[in-house]
Amino acid sequence: MKKILIVEDEISIAELERDYLEIDGFYADIIRDGSDGLRLALNEDYDLVILDLMLPVVDGFEICRQLRTATNIPILMVSARKEDIDKIRGLGLGADDYITKPFSPGELVARVKAHLARYERLLGNSHQKNDLINIRGLSIDKAARRVFINNIEVNLTNKEFELLVFLASNPNRVYSKDDLFERIWGMDSMGDLATITVHIGRLRDKIEPVPSNPQYIETIWGVGYRFKV
Ligand code: CA
Repeated sequence: MKKILIVEDEISIAELERDYLEIDGFYADIIRDGSDGLRLALNEDYDLVILDLMLPVVDGFEICRQLRTATNIPILMVSARKEDIDKIRGLGLGADDYITKPFSPGELVARVKAHLARYERLLGNSHQKNDLINIRGLSIDKAARRVFINNIEVNLTNKEFELLVFLASNPNRVYSKDDLFERIWGMDSMGDLATITVHIGRLRDKIEPVPSNPQYIETIWGVGYRFKV
């Protein structure tokens, strides 16, 4: 079920929006205050945000601006004043759509559906593109969980595979052992950072032509590891 966040301080409007969204099979949360709205939109897993412009504490302009630095989820901005909509457009805050009050709930739901469908297509395309990584003879098929060096398959353990995929998906960035442990093993595991050293060593033995002089996974002394492209 798609989750929608409604940030709106006029509760009668918010409830009307929620009712119509629920009739169409969506789940919707209502938040009346801008700072809570921003926090929730950033930390929870919503599929779309319906954002009123005039809100207590943090207004819709600021929420939209901050959300866009962190996520591409569709943002539908709502305002009572046509001039505000023009202003949002002019500021280029990255909202996907604008709607003026009063609006028909049917129109709102239609726009929500259109933006969710568009966003899903966008995500679908990028997932497909990112499923395959090819770098200098190393091929990783993420979906099939297979790795090849010069077309010869290499057998990796689960953790070796996850470590390689993570590093190769975020190339040219240095990750400390702590970072890698947290991302691959999870925060709840009992951590021993030597685990990372051991796994990097095994990975190099399997994928590097000369493990002592790695061309894929570099050691950045005193900092961590970097996947080089
Ligand atoms: Ca308002």
